[in-house]
Amino acid sequence: MKRVYQAADILLAGHIHAVLEQHGIPAVLRNAYLGGAAGELPLNECWPEVWVSDDEDYELARRLVADILEAPGGSDWRCSGCGELVEGQFAACWSCGRAAPER
Ligand SMILES: [Zn+2]
Repeated sequence: MKRVYQAADILLAGHIHAVLEQHGIPAVLRNAYLGGAAGELPLNECWPEVWVSDDEDYELARRLVADILEAPGGSDWRCSGCGELVEGQFAACWSCGRAAPER
């Protein structure tokens, strides 16, 4: 198990988890539902984290996370694969994993 992402943004953590799974990388989302404990624990121990189950997937997972985080923010876009509306900061569809259209 290796951690590839930690942030206070549960939506982004969930998106990263979904994208890794779409790429066939077994991943685990931790601390997704610990919001109620915030204030009792050091804040960064409550943050959502994404871990890969297999250390061999770590490098690929890091690259995917970097791609997601570096995606330029923009207006929401409609996925051409499944029709979902995806927030502009995401480089790939959270539902089916298809990459965003060129902008
Ligand atoms: Zn899609």
